[in-house]
Amino acid sequence: MSNSRKVHVKSFGCQMNVYDSNRMADTLAPAGYAETAAAEDADLVILNTCHIREKAAEKVYSEIGRIRVMKEEAARQGRTMLIAVAGCVAQAEGEEIMRRAGAVDLVVGSQNYHRLPEMIARAQHGEKVVDTEFPLEDKFAALSAPAREATAKRGVTSFVTVQEGCDKFCTFCVVPYTRGAEVSRPVTQVVAEVERLAEAGVREITLIGQNVNAYHGEGEDGAPSSLGKLLRRLSRMPGICRLRYTTSHPRDMNDDLYRAHAEVEELMPYVHLPVQSGSDRILDAMNRKHTREEYLAVIARLRAARPDIALSSDFIVGFPGETEQDFGDTLALIEEVGFASAFSFMYSPRPGTPAAEMEEQVAAEVKSERLQRLQALITRGQRAFNAGFAGKTLDVLLEKPGRLPGQLVGKSPYLQAVQVMAPRSLLGSVAPVTITEVGSNSLFGELAEHTAPQLAAAGA
Ligand code: SF4
Repeated sequence: MSNSRKVHVKSFGCQMNVYDSNRMADTLAPAGYAETAAAEDADLVILNTCHIREKAAEKVYSEIGRIRVMKEEAARQGRTMLIAVAGCVAQAEGEEIMRRAGAVDLVVGSQNYHRLPEMIARAQHGEKVVDTEFPLEDKFAALSAPAREATAKRGVTSFVTVQEGCDKFCTFCVVPYTRGAEVSRPVTQVVAEVERLAEAGVREITLIGQNVNAYHGEGEDGAPSSLGKLLRRLSRMPGICRLRYTTSHPRDMNDDLYRAHAEVEELMPYVHLPVQSGSDRILDAMNRKHTREEYLAVIARLRAARPDIALSSDFIVGFPGETEQDFGDTLALIEEVGFASAFSFMYSPRPGTPAAEMEEQVAAEVKSERLQRLQALITRGQRAFNAGFAGKTLDVLLEKPGRLPGQLVGKSPYLQAVQVMAPRSLLGSVAPVTITEVGSNSLFGELAEHTAPQLAAAGA
């Protein structure tokens, strides 16, 4: 079918939403929808929302207000624009969105977007459609395969969701309520999707899931497969030269995954492993079900398997009851591990979660002051990590043109952004780059002389 209609998907939040947004667009392609970056030109605008940040729902309502103005303008021009709200806010708010925002035509939960074509057909007849039930059928099996043309435009790296949902119930988090219980996709389904991506020119795959290392999808032999086994399987696929995975839970690290880090060359030496706090008292109140020592033991095993591994983490500052001593334990943990990067947030209550009801909420100014101290420490660690690469040569997957003419941007094995002057013919190839300058967020380098002509000649 020719693409005569346009869809604009705006993605908020994590990589899982970026992936879902791409899959929504893929699913709508056979129904005649082509992607557009301009919301005002679209026949369908999908807001793929995230519930993690504070006041997430309010932000979505204000975004709907912005799109409503475009919808009214389209109507004046005699065009129909449908507005769909998808993702975690849609899952959490459901019918409430229709009540509060009359401009919305569709509300689609995280597990239901494979039904979008049918829902849109109903909305086109004036029905207000809400579908946020957790369905019995497998969303992934029902989705259209990634469209080759659209995939090629999205670049040489791609996310692939292999696991969804969470059974851990950390006391601060809404994910178990919005994404449901842990489920894993079968290996054959993942392999088929990666094959399509590789054919469209993708070189690096990041396997994603709320608890990706809890992966236990059905293997090709019918038995449950671990994440380590899945990574080994994908490492043998033609065209794929790099593998990553995120986000992991310390409790789900296992021998198979440690071994994969030691043995699978394609598995990049970088792991994002949230710890949230360095205090056992707070870890317990968060229901993380691991101690500081157990976390450090996981780090030791990863480093034993792959000594150069880079580590990143998430931290929540000012969780209810956090004392200066607890916070000091977190700072000490950061010093001890030496993270290459980290994300940090001030605790803010999420309605419906146990921590929101806890007494001893920490004052906003205390949280803010602690966050500044923690971020200063993390930034120092990140600078020290990056500085260690000055003068060294790193393999860089060249992903896209940079801001300057003749410049390409890529990623090192340790997920650092690297900028280098290089011919466009090298896009999609892994090139050795000698680091000449270390900035706060990027490394700068030159193609290593002895290999550059070879790569260019190969058109790699
Ligand atoms: S492990 Fe905890 S923080 Fe992560 S998704 Fe599950 S409940 Fe949320």
